[in-house]
Amino acid sequence: MIAASPTPRHPAGSGNPSAGTTSHPVGTDAADRTGQPCAGESSPRHSCAADPADPEAWQRELAQAVTDPVELCRLLQLDPQLALQARTAAGRFRLLVPRGFVRRMRRADPHDPLLLQVLPGARELIEQAGYESDPLHECRTQRVPGLLHKYHGRALLISTGACAVHCRYCFRREFPYGGHADTSGALAAIAADASIEEVILSGGDPLALSTARLRRLTDALRDVPHVRRLRLHTRTPVVLPERVDAALVDWLGSLPWPCVVVLHCNHANEIDAAVRAASARLRSTGATLLNQSVLLGGVNDSASALCELSEALWSAGTLPYYLHLLDPVSGAAHFEVSETRARQLLAQVAARLPGYLVPRLAREVPGAPAKSLIAPAPPDP
Ligand code: SF4
Repeated sequence: MIAASPTPRHPAGSGNPSAGTTSHPVGTDAADRTGQPCAGESSPRHSCAADPADPEAWQRELAQAVTDPVELCRLLQLDPQLALQARTAAGRFRLLVPRGFVRRMRRADPHDPLLLQVLPGARELIEQAGYESDPLHECRTQRVPGLLHKYHGRALLISTGACAVHCRYCFRREFPYGGHADTSGALAAIAADASIEEVILSGGDPLALSTARLRRLTDALRDVPHVRRLRLHTRTPVVLPERVDAALVDWLGSLPWPCVVVLHCNHANEIDAAVRAASARLRSTGATLLNQSVLLGGVNDSASALCELSEALWSAGTLPYYLHLLDPVSGAAHFEVSETRARQLLAQVAARLPGYLVPRLAREVPGAPAKSLIAPAPPDP
């Protein structure tokens, strides 16, 4: 989940602890997980199109997300051997993917760009020099638990550790979210620091929180006079568009600040009619929609894939914002794309698309006072 602060590509609170050994909680903090399974994924009659007025639709969808590699491979008609490897790697950071996202994957294609982002693999277990559990050194830079204040004027609130999907390349995949459920210290620190003009809700994924909890968070910030902007970094509207329901729209529309919603989408195939509709609902609140991606080997590391992504984002009323180089987190080395190759790709994208559809290529350097812009080249100081 990322412009000015050490936000995840994107990373979202106090969600349910996940199974397995990962420190990354999963799912929603919402209490109600009732509902029926989304059975029959491949049936043309099956539809999980949710009614935005149904306040529990997204919770039901998330409760039925796929967590077992064997089931994922069965749904996608993949070699069962893949599932065996995935089960081993999933012990470190477990599989979690909503069924609606699975339906956007190609059947019988182990190289599907959406599948590669979520399916654990044996390569994650290979230790690589330079890759570490906290590649941005965030654990050392928290002022109080759950508050990252790295760049001038902006502070990032780790509102939850839960997500609607587990992305294999996530730089917070091993972040110690325990203890961040109580945001009172972070909120007090924001209120006490007049230099903080923008609050960024991150995590995990803030939209994994119930709308009631989000409302309580923003209610606590309403009377802080120096807070002028609110930003959300979220992948949930892409992987679980049902989350953008009437209650969420009502909450966003009621906020006293201009809001920026930074989505996290890496491939054009992630954007379907439901995502476009969810984006339209977000825009109806007056929010500005931007997108950040991670450049991922095997997923979007071609000029055509990046151009198609920008075009698909445009069709969803969203502007490409950042394209990040991979943060060197343990288990993700197989996604690495060199900076040289990234520059070449951006040049090709810039030659094909109007400037407003060309994302800024950037990397985050621990300790730096701003994100390091790679392309287009930053102006001389
Ligand atoms: S696992 Fe994915 S959705 Fe969750 S914080 Fe990381 S990048 Fe974002």
